[in-house]
Amino acid sequence: MPIRLTPLMRQRLTRRALGMITRSLRYFPELKDTAITVGYTRKHLGSATVIFRKGAILRMIIRLKVGKVTYQTIGHELTHLIQGLAHGDRSKPAAMDFERIPSGETQCDIWTLARHRLFCDDAPTYVRMPRLIRENWQNYAASVRELCIAAIEKRHSHRQYIRWLETEIGKLAKAPRKAKPMSAQLTLPFVI
Ligand SMILES: [Zn+2]
Repeated sequence: MPIRLTPLMRQRLTRRALGMITRSLRYFPELKDTAITVGYTRKHLGSATVIFRKGAILRMIIRLKVGKVTYQTIGHELTHLIQGLAHGDRSKPAAMDFERIPSGETQCDIWTLARHRLFCDDAPTYVRMPRLIRENWQNYAASVRELCIAAIEKRHSHRQYIRWLETEIGKLAKAPRKAKPMSAQLTLPFVI
């Protein structure tokens, strides 16, 4: 999938950020046939735009702040592109809607975290969570990701799946922290 850079981004892009974008795109096979334009923004959060002309994709653009960009932000913006693609795609019957990523910022966060643990390097912006979890994100990231995956499964039967997810995340903060199991090491036979 070719990446095009805007002139401003060409000046700003670091090797680190380009590497992160390229690596992130591997987890978005839906985008592999389309050129993506990567632009620069000063804003804390990035942005994503899909431009259609006569029902066909003309351009897909994400804008990122290069400095402290996270996989979370890159993944979030790429997920917006997928949301945009689904929105403009009239070729699929409405019955396929359940396979699509629904529009919305919270939905974008949930599907991004669920996609791959790569995108769990920072807390999402829009999913509501207790401050304890946000501030100790590294300790909770894997559990929150599992809950996101479960919420996506629940969506088929549960209209309030986002509320369910946020309630469950809230419970994580109340549960006593389990010590990280070291079973892999402890159960190894002792060999000299
Ligand atoms: Zn967004």
